[in-house]
Amino acid sequence: MPSPWREPGYLRVVWIQSPNYGPRPVNGAIDTIVVHSTVIPTLETTTKAFQRGEPANPNPVSAHFTIGRDGSIVQNVSSFGRAWHAGAGVDAAGHTNPNNYSIGIELVNLNDGKDPYPDAQIEALRGIVATMRRRFPIRQIVSHEYIAQPPGRKNDPKGFPWDRLKDFGLPIYTGEHKVG
Ligand SMILES: [Zn+2]
Repeated sequence: MPSPWREPGYLRVVWIQSPNYGPRPVNGAIDTIVVHSTVIPTLETTTKAFQRGEPANPNPVSAHFTIGRDGSIVQNVSSFGRAWHAGAGVDAAGHTNPNNYSIGIELVNLNDGKDPYPDAQIEALRGIVATMRRRFPIRQIVSHEYIAQPPGRKNDPKGFPWDRLKDFGLPIYTGEHKVG
C-alpha cells in the first residue's frame, strides 16, 4: 500500500498486488466480465481489504480491478490470474465456478441503490471492458447478483446503469438468476 494513500487519478492505473489469487484452469477461456460494487466506501479501504490474506483472514477476497469514484484504477490481480471475487455461481450457459473464467471489476460504491456511479467511474469501467475484449474472447457481461448462487446471495452492483455498457454489443445479464 502506498503511504500516504494517493488516488491514482482519472484513467490512471496503479498496480497494488493482492495476495489473494491463484492459477486459472489450464486451457480455460477467459470470456466473462463480472461487475461488482464494493459496499466499502473508498478505493483505499477496498485496496486494503484485498491485501488481507490467509491464514489471518478466513475469507480472503480480491478482484482484478477496482475503480474509484473519480475513475482512478487499482489493479489487484493480473487478468491472467484467478482473482477471488465471485464465489459460488453459475452463468446463463450453466458454467459454474465463475472465478475460473471471469474478470472481476469492483466499483467503489455503497451498493445502497442510491449512491451514484459517476461518469468518470463508468468511463474507466468502459475502458477496462474494451481492453479486456481486445485481450480475451469476452462473450458476456454479468452482475455479481446474477452470477452468484444461491440466488439472492449477492445484490451488487445495485443501481448500476447497465445501458451505459449496451454499445459493446455483448449480452448483459443482471437481476437474480434462478436456476433448477
Ligand atoms: Zn460482488
